[in-house]
Amino acid sequence: MARRPQTPADPRHVRLMETLREQGVSDPAVLSAIATTPRDLFTPELFQERAFEDQALPIACGQTISQPYIVGLMTQALKIERRSRVLEIGTGSGYQTTILSKLARLVYSVERYRTLLSAAEARFRELGLTNVVTRFGDGGQGWPEQAPFDRIMVTAAAPDDPRTLLAQLKPKGIMVAPVGRGPVQNLNRYVGDGEGGFTMETLTEVRFVPLLEGVAKES
Ligand code: SAH
Repeated sequence: MARRPQTPADPRHVRLMETLREQGVSDPAVLSAIATTPRDLFTPELFQERAFEDQALPIACGQTISQPYIVGLMTQALKIERRSRVLEIGTGSGYQTTILSKLARLVYSVERYRTLLSAAEARFRELGLTNVVTRFGDGGQGWPEQAPFDRIMVTAAAPDDPRTLLAQLKPKGIMVAPVGRGPVQNLNRYVGDGEGGFTMETLTEVRFVPLLEGVAKES
């Protein structure tokens, strides 16, 4: 049974929710997950007054917290079910992770910067999330010990179709990933056909930081 999306207390957050709806984020469960996730908690001190703008913002280690509309679009495109086990590549601030955790049974999130991962883990504890597991490592390799996954979300731009990750998806699984080598990439959705193959469609153009190989030394 679909419930009405909840209304946030902060008026800036209410306006942000209106913006997302206007742009086509319509899934009530996705809207509720975003409405109950305080983006200011994930935003650096310096950008607090912009925490509820529909824009990507800088975080530590030269990375970014994703634009809320893109978070909404990608989460909606993933068609998460309550029983889904979801792999996320690029924990970053943990904002997208938190939204996934409100929709899925379990979220596995991989990050290549220790600093970012520790800060995100502290936020998960503060929010009392009990269904998020994290790993410091190269997300390009996925999480083979926990595969296969029902859903995979990649929040850094892969240079080509991420085949290693596709191989960790269930036969009828769904993966959403930005793919491309330039500053603008294609946001692709891959849907398993149940027989080992996939159909791919491009949803829109996006600007993500690159998916880099290995773990960060400076982390
Ligand atoms: N979903 C995040 C967005 C973070 S930006 C949020 O909402 O805040 C993308 C993140 O992917 C960065 O933190 C970056 O360090 C991470 N990343 C890039 N390449 C990676 C890799 N190979 N493995 C794991 N994380 C990676």
